[in-house]
Amino acid sequence: MNNSELEAVHGKAGNAAAMPTPQWAGSDLDTLRAKYYQLHIAVEQSPAATAITDSEGRIEYVNRRFLEVTGYSREELIGKTPAMIQSGTTPEAVYRDLWQTLRNGQVWRGELQNRKKNGELYWESEIITPVRNDAGEIVRFVAVKEDITERKRQEEELRLLASVFQTGQATLITDPEMRIERVNQAFTDITGYLPDEVIGHTPRLFKSGRHDKAFYSQLWQDVLETGHWQGEIWNRNKYGEIYPLWQSITAVHDEAGRIRHFIAVFHNIAERKRLEQELEQQATRDHLTGAHNRRAFDAAMRKAIRQAERSDNSFSLLLFDIDLFKTVNDQHGHDTGDLILKRLARLVGRTLRSTDLLARWGGEEFAILLQDTPAHGASIFAERLRQQVAETRLHGLAITISLGIAEYRRGESPEQMLARADGALYRAKRAGRNRVGLADTPP
Ligand code: GH3
Ligand code: MG
Ligand code: MG
Repeated sequence: MNNSELEAVHGKAGNAAAMPTPQWAGSDLDTLRAKYYQLHIAVEQSPAATAITDSEGRIEYVNRRFLEVTGYSREELIGKTPAMIQSGTTPEAVYRDLWQTLRNGQVWRGELQNRKKNGELYWESEIITPVRNDAGEIVRFVAVKEDITERKRQEEELRLLASVFQTGQATLITDPEMRIERVNQAFTDITGYLPDEVIGHTPRLFKSGRHDKAFYSQLWQDVLETGHWQGEIWNRNKYGEIYPLWQSITAVHDEAGRIRHFIAVFHNIAERKRLEQELEQQATRDHLTGAHNRRAFDAAMRKAIRQAERSDNSFSLLLFDIDLFKTVNDQHGHDTGDLILKRLARLVGRTLRSTDLLARWGGEEFAILLQDTPAHGASIFAERLRQQVAETRLHGLAITISLGIAEYRRGESPEQMLARADGALYRAKRAGRNRVGLADTPP
């Protein structure tokens, strides 16, 4: 190595005079050069980014790793100050502390966020050492830096995950392949699974069988496209019980946009659903029999009318009333009467299609909405029902009913239709009970 090579890696030759006098002073020049070359190679090939500045902080030398990390060339750096790679994110106080420490002749250690030539931010752990000359004056600073971006990222991620864990919601964290990495206490409380029983498995372990393939593929499509999904999902716990959850799934990405984790946060909504159902039940059902109430029936009838007006399909309304029910009450008591009302509602409910609707119209009078059923079909249904009730001993008692049928007439109101069915029922009673009356069919 000749002098100009030395200058190229170590700045101006003039500064060399300020270097501390090496202990090998007095050896011949070749030995000195050989030792210097060894040192140069060691620093140049070191995996730690290294910079040497003069006492004013102007860069005299940077090693190869420094160039690799920052993306700058030697020419761009020599003579400049490290402000070139400052990110602007570090508080002023850190630099004040750094310079004060160095000027006091002490070693400074710390972590700095710097910026590469291409603008990218990175974290370094730095050790900066002041170098003194024989007179004890600080003449240089040597900075040795280690890239800790990955460690910082992991620390940040752990902080984030810890904050999610502390919300008290059941939380599960997976790797990009959806293998469970961590779960929290609330997770165990809800699912029954201890961490050891699920870590390494995928959440397929919790599948209830209630959702089809399309449900899960839509869910994961949402997570991958938007980074997020939330909704209701049924899972199976450790004991085989199936329960509803409100779950949100989030994809956690790194700076390069790759997925690092999926985080699922959920809570059990079984109780909420039960309450909702109960409220819905209270709003639409009759207390005693569990049949729909008048309000629900009214809504269903208006809907059926709207549909009938839009299509060629017709529907029918059936009213029925227990024959001589006063006598049943008188002879067997009101409680037995109630019991019979319940049993009758259950019996009728079993004969209906899922689209039909049974309501307790009041007292011992019921109404049935038969979807897509004209008068003829309704008559057959009514006759069969009449017969079935007559042949069944409800609570050991023989009961009969009378029925009135009306098929929807275009343009009529619910009240008009009900009045026609009621008229038909009245005629059935007048004709001797235990029979079906049919209102005039549409012209
Ligand atoms: P019919 O209908 O055949 O003309 O004779 P009915 O004896 O059934 O006469 P009506 O329909 O007018 O009388 C209704 C009776 O039903 C009056 C009441 O005693 C009884 N009833 C009404 N609501 C209830 C109820 O919720 N529980 C009980 N146990 N009885 C009821
Ligand atoms: Mg009656
Ligand atoms: Mg009545």
